[in-house]
Amino acid sequence: MTAAWFTALFVAALLTMIAVQSWLGVRQIASVQRHRDRVPDAFAARIPLAAHQKAADYTVARQRFARVDRVVDLVMTVGWTLLGGLALAATVTSTLPAPWNDVVLTAIVAIVGGIVGLPLSWWRTFVLEARFGFNRTTLAVWLADMAKGILVGIVLGLPLLLAVLWLVAHGGGLWWLWVWALWIAFQVLILLLYPTVIAPLFNKFSPLPAGDARARIEALLARCGFAARGLFVMDGSKRSSHGNAYFVGFGRARRIVFFDTLLTTLAPPEVESVLAHELGHYALKHIVKTLVWSAVVSLAMLALLAWLSRQPWFYTGLGITDPAQMTRPGVMLNLFFIALPPFVFLLSPVTAMYSRRHEFEADAFAAQNASADALVSALVKMYEDNASTLTPDPLHSAFYDSHPPAAIRIGRLASLAQPYASGTT
Ligand SMILES: [Zn+2]
Repeated sequence: MTAAWFTALFVAALLTMIAVQSWLGVRQIASVQRHRDRVPDAFAARIPLAAHQKAADYTVARQRFARVDRVVDLVMTVGWTLLGGLALAATVTSTLPAPWNDVVLTAIVAIVGGIVGLPLSWWRTFVLEARFGFNRTTLAVWLADMAKGILVGIVLGLPLLLAVLWLVAHGGGLWWLWVWALWIAFQVLILLLYPTVIAPLFNKFSPLPAGDARARIEALLARCGFAARGLFVMDGSKRSSHGNAYFVGFGRARRIVFFDTLLTTLAPPEVESVLAHELGHYALKHIVKTLVWSAVVSLAMLALLAWLSRQPWFYTGLGITDPAQMTRPGVMLNLFFIALPPFVFLLSPVTAMYSRRHEFEADAFAAQNASADALVSALVKMYEDNASTLTPDPLHSAFYDSHPPAAIRIGRLASLAQPYASGTT
């Protein structure tokens, strides 16, 4: 491969990604607007037309925002690579001793990305989300979140980066294998630290108060033979009115967390069914499978990077022409992660499909161990409260949605609700 061919391949991948994303966005807007005037039959009794139209407008507004996001991403990617941004940053840092030259280089890439992303993030929170009544964040909370995020990033990211740079420089021909082992260990560390150290920096967690919901949840956990270290309520309403529930942690240290926003909108049987769905992810080993899958993918990525790092066209094709820069681990790593997205974008439907299959399985588990009807009514309330569209474009959904489209998901659950109704009468 020559550098010119690799540049052409990169540009082709980038243009394909932009074209496919834009086309899917246009399809999504068209699908939502086509169905804006009528609530789909399956939801007509439960969701008012005004809420359906709000969901349509919210979906369209987010798609329009995504267009701006895509253009900014494109300019950044081309700027760092073909226009010589990374080469310039590598030149500026070239007088520093290793590994600090690469640490500062990585910091420059992160800081420029952060500064460019700042107005977009502000717009999303204080204009887009606020316009639809979802935002509850104040500017003070938003700024504090950013400061804490940067701090956590430095405390956790800097030692990781130093260790990776050291391994690339001194690990020999199999450095990528050592980096992989380090990456897996780092992810386990994050999983251990997240519930008890990281998440409490951003939110308050209080025990789920006694009552109908708690009694139902404890009975469900006992019924499924599931041990958890605690049931918590998180003050998600501090930032947004979007609701959710999740599991964190490992083994006996695992916690179950409910957003306070969810507990105020769902009735106790609905909360129980949502938790049963989450329990399904655990019982069916989805979490472990996903972790193993991501470990395999990261190993493949690192092996690919190790091979690319020995090809001069990888550097020259992406704007790094100084041979001295080609030997710097930081240049290699940053270049790889900047150039990677367009090459892996076409794999996103595979990941999304895998995730949607897990959602169906967890729903079936919930139908078996709690109530399918309660889960349907919980989901309908969540769709309405989160202004999720009920009429997505099927192709857009296939590419992006980690959860099945509302109508298909509810349809499946409805069929699970009366297992004896078909065939026996
Ligand atoms: Zn799920």
